Amino acid sequence: MHLGHIAALLPGDILARYYRQKGEKVLYVSGSDCNGTPISIRANQEQTTVNAIADRYHKEFEQVFQQLGFSYDIYTRTDASHHHQIVQTIFLTLLENGYLYKKKTDQAYCEYDGCFLPDRFVEGICPNCGEKARGDQCDHCSAILDPLELIDKRCKICGQEPVVKETEHFYLSFSTLQEKLEKYIAGAEQEKRWRENAIALTKRYLAEGIQDRAVTRDLPNGVDVPIEGFEGKKIYVWI
Ligand SMILES: [Zn+2]
Ligand SMILES: [Zn+2]
Repeated sequence: MHLGHIAALLPGDILARYYRQKGEKVLYVSGSDCNGTPISIRANQEQTTVNAIADRYHKEFEQVFQQLGFSYDIYTRTDASHHHQIVQTIFLTLLENGYLYKKKTDQAYCEYDGCFLPDRFVEGICPNCGEKARGDQCDHCSAILDPLELIDKRCKICGQEPVVKETEHFYLSFSTLQEKLEKYIAGAEQEKRWRENAIALTKRYLAEGIQDRAVTRDLPNGVDVPIEGFEGKKIYVWI
C-alpha cells in the first residue's frame, strides 16, 4: 500500500460521506483482491501459499484503512464464498442474456513456468509506437494490445520467449454495446458530467470500435467458471 493507492481510493470515501450527510441510504463496500496471477507468483517466490500472501496483505490494508478513518460499511475479500457466488451469478446472467460467447484463441504460454501468461505478464515492443510495452496496453501510446502482437515477446516471470498455444474462453460481446455507449457519452459530454480527458479517451476507444474482451482466463486461483468443460479456468477479475 502506498500513497498513490490511497489517493485513488479516497474519492469513494468522500462520495460515501457526502451522500450519508444528505441523508441517503449508502452502502460503501470494497475488498482486497485475493485472486490472480501476481499473488500466485509471489507465493511461489516466497515458498508459501496463496492464502498466506492474501491474509498478510488483507490484514495490512484493513489496518491502514482503519487508521486513516475510511468509512467502509463492508471491507471484504475476493476469496470470500459470497463473492464467488455473486460473481458466478453475474456471469450466468450475462450468459443467459446472450452477452457471452465461446471462442478458441491462441495465447502466450511459458513452457519454463508451465502456465498460460496473463496479458500483462507478456512484455515486448509495441507494434504501434516501437516503445517497450506490456501485453495488455502500451503506456507510451495508450494502444490496447493483444500480447501476441508484441515484437520480441518475453515472459515477465522468467524472461524467456513464450510459445503460442490454443485455449478456449468466454468473451463479452462489448461491440454490441457500441451504439448505447456512444449515446451515453454524448449525454455526459453535453451535461459536462465528466472531465475532458475522460471524455477524450473514451471517444478515442469508441472511434476505434469497441472490441469484445475475454472474461475468463487460464489462472491458477480465483472464481471458477461454472460451466462444464471449463474446469480449471477462472472468471477474469474486471467483469
Ligand atoms: Zn505504443
Ligand atoms: Zn516464464
